[in-house]
Amino acid sequence: MDKNKMSLTMKVLVGMALGIALGLFFNLSGLNADGSFVNTYIVDGLFLIIGKMFVNALKMLVVPLVFFSLICGVCGIGNLKTLGRVGTKSFALYMMTTAIAITLAITIAASVGIGEGMNLESTASFTGKETPPLTQVLIDIIPSNPIHAMANGDMLPLIFFSILVGISLLMVGRKASSFIEGAEIANEVMMKMVTMVMTMAPYAVFALIAKSVAELGFDLLGQLAGYVGVLVGALLIHLFVTLMIVLKVFSGLSPRLFLQKIRNAQVFAFSTASSNATIPVTLRTVTERMGVNNSVASFTVPFGATINMDGTAIMQGVATVFIANVYGLDLGITGYLTVILMSVLASIGTAGVPGVGLIMLSMVFAQVGLPIEGIGLILGVDRLMDMIRTAVNVSGDAVVTSIVAKSEGKLSLETYNDVTAGAVMVDSIHIDDAVEQELAQAVQQTHDKQ
Ligand code: ASP
Repeated sequence: MDKNKMSLTMKVLVGMALGIALGLFFNLSGLNADGSFVNTYIVDGLFLIIGKMFVNALKMLVVPLVFFSLICGVCGIGNLKTLGRVGTKSFALYMMTTAIAITLAITIAASVGIGEGMNLESTASFTGKETPPLTQVLIDIIPSNPIHAMANGDMLPLIFFSILVGISLLMVGRKASSFIEGAEIANEVMMKMVTMVMTMAPYAVFALIAKSVAELGFDLLGQLAGYVGVLVGALLIHLFVTLMIVLKVFSGLSPRLFLQKIRNAQVFAFSTASSNATIPVTLRTVTERMGVNNSVASFTVPFGATINMDGTAIMQGVATVFIANVYGLDLGITGYLTVILMSVLASIGTAGVPGVGLIMLSMVFAQVGLPIEGIGLILGVDRLMDMIRTAVNVSGDAVVTSIVAKSEGKLSLETYNDVTAGAVMVDSIHIDDAVEQELAQAVQQTHDKQ
């Protein structure tokens, strides 16, 4: 393969591996001690800046991308009944996969008996933050001020408003056609920006991972090996077994190809620990790599990033069993059923941003009467767990998106089955010489006229 044409995924994976290696070196050699040169100028300096700039660049794209792609999506579907069907199907599948995830997690954790007879002292204290009550979540779906919702990046009200704009455009009809065309162009422009930002990923992922690994508490990881082991095991089983069975059974699509194509989105989710920030990449992956039509993906992807969190649910299941055992409490079957219900509901009202899983967990604990300060025990390893579970969350969004699209006849099998479809090549960012000349001429003509 031509060196310049190395696929982006390859480059990102190399960046990730180098990041892990350097992070490990900084951590284990003690070079990253508080106040040291490496800590101040490299880890908390250069790496922090590069990482944050990159995450900002991704977040920058989320709101306009969701807005324009949803308008195009709604106008593309062009019929309210289909829209309702896509909404119902994706909602049902999202809830179903989350419920399966947490049930699996509780079953595995309880049968292993993690945390039993453990005598852990926590130094970190954790005071729970409130998650919004379900009534408020429902009320807030309708934004009192759409610009405010956009400025805050509130996904559900943004989705609601964009769908409404799309429907109204359809109702206005012919007169609105140039607006729709404009939205299509804007959507294409946003997608180009996604590709542009993605090409920066190898360097940014390197910085993000090196920083996380350099700061990782390896002693803690050892102490909590049981919790970490069971959690990671349950996450992997859900990703590679449960979700792939769901994909195959409901859509007949090849799990092998799915896993191959989703890798980029997973890496982005892993390094940013945010399903929301990954929306642009997930959207690009399902449309351009897997052949899902934008009319389905523009809705299911941002919707899933907000309400679907399989990985987070798994963490909640494992953490509940773990902490209950550490404190020697028995939740009983009703307690566990409450945990399942609460986790599924909590995932609806909370956005996919870093660390939100812990907030949801405090709500679950309060409900079943587990000590909230128990969360302090797992706090130290949560960032790493957050990265892994976010990759699972995003994979779940893509699985449901593919199933819904396939069932609606909105998935191009030709694209799905083509291994190379939509792969970002590193040299794919360039402006065509002819286009550049044309643009220059157009600008010149405008000047001449003036
Ligand atoms: N970071 C996760 C996400 O964005 C949520 C969480 O588990 O904290 O999906």
